[in-house]
Amino acid sequence: MKLSILVPIYNEKDNLEPLRAALLGTLDILGKPFEVILVNDGSIDGSAEVMDAIAASDVRFKIVHFKRNFGQTAALMAAIDHATGDVLIPMDGDLQNDPQDIPRLLERIEQGYDVVSGWRKDRQDQALSRILPSKIANWLISWISGVPLHDYGCSLKAYRRGVLSNVHLYGEMHRFVPIYAAWEGARISELVVMHHPRKFGTSKYGLGRINRVLLDLLVIRFMQKAFDRPIHFFGTVGTISLGTAFLAGLWALGLKLIEGTSFVSTPLPLLAAFFALSGVLFILLGLIAELQMRVYFESQAKRFYTLRATRNITGEIGPPS
Ligand code: UDP
Ligand code: MG
Repeated sequence: MKLSILVPIYNEKDNLEPLRAALLGTLDILGKPFEVILVNDGSIDGSAEVMDAIAASDVRFKIVHFKRNFGQTAALMAAIDHATGDVLIPMDGDLQNDPQDIPRLLERIEQGYDVVSGWRKDRQDQALSRILPSKIANWLISWISGVPLHDYGCSLKAYRRGVLSNVHLYGEMHRFVPIYAAWEGARISELVVMHHPRKFGTSKYGLGRINRVLLDLLVIRFMQKAFDRPIHFFGTVGTISLGTAFLAGLWALGLKLIEGTSFVSTPLPLLAAFFALSGVLFILLGLIAELQMRVYFESQAKRFYTLRATRNITGEIGPPS
């Protein structure tokens, strides 16, 4: 079983050498084949040179340099793309995660879990600006996604390679990888891991992250519910809207016929027009989304189902031709 340790690096010059030492301290004793993939996410502090020096002295350290800063999610995606291991273990490059937890993560994988998610139970960050928002976010993400975890934001996790084969990350979605894995049918486990305060360099994030995570969560929810049938989502909203328009119109007509109320003296006709228009627009959006969805799946011969196994089935798959 080969391990791939995946580390996004953005301006972590002073952390790299201690990170290398800490990783080797654990991995050399563990005795499994491994590679460490360091993705330089457009660092401008001289991290690149330190990374190249590390790679020159040890071929198990593989480096991917981005042309500019693309963000932690892109860096993790690139690391996954270049990984050759059977178990993929992302972690932060700032020494806040501790490589000493890696053997415990692996134990869980060996017990048969596909995903082991780190939980920074004793988190070493500012209480008010980091820990509290993260508590609320984790509760919300767990609730909305139906995949209950205490610490989505913890980078240190372990994945069996197979559960990542269909994962495509955009925005700030690296924290949602366990949800993608759960969609693939993965068995997920959670493990308390160590967390240290940042010694060198600074955090790359502020409060602006909260809103971006919430928007990403909306995308996740939509994909989970309606990715392969967008017309059902937009169409339902559209139908409700059209129904509301019909009722408002009926009410206005009733008032006019029974009580002689003029159309212009109530807001009902306006409401009817508003809801009728929104209803039509929602349904049209649903139709466009249906076309998009078909382009996505059919242009790449993708399927929206995933298989666990087949029996006595060989050869090419696909519709009869
Ligand atoms: N990171 C990155 N690109 C970015 C921002 C961050 O590769 O645009 C890396 C960073 O170098 C670190 C990890 O992502 O290894 C986590 O970042 P940070 O420690 O700033 O996040 P925090 O721990 O404060 O949530
Ligand atoms: Mg950090």
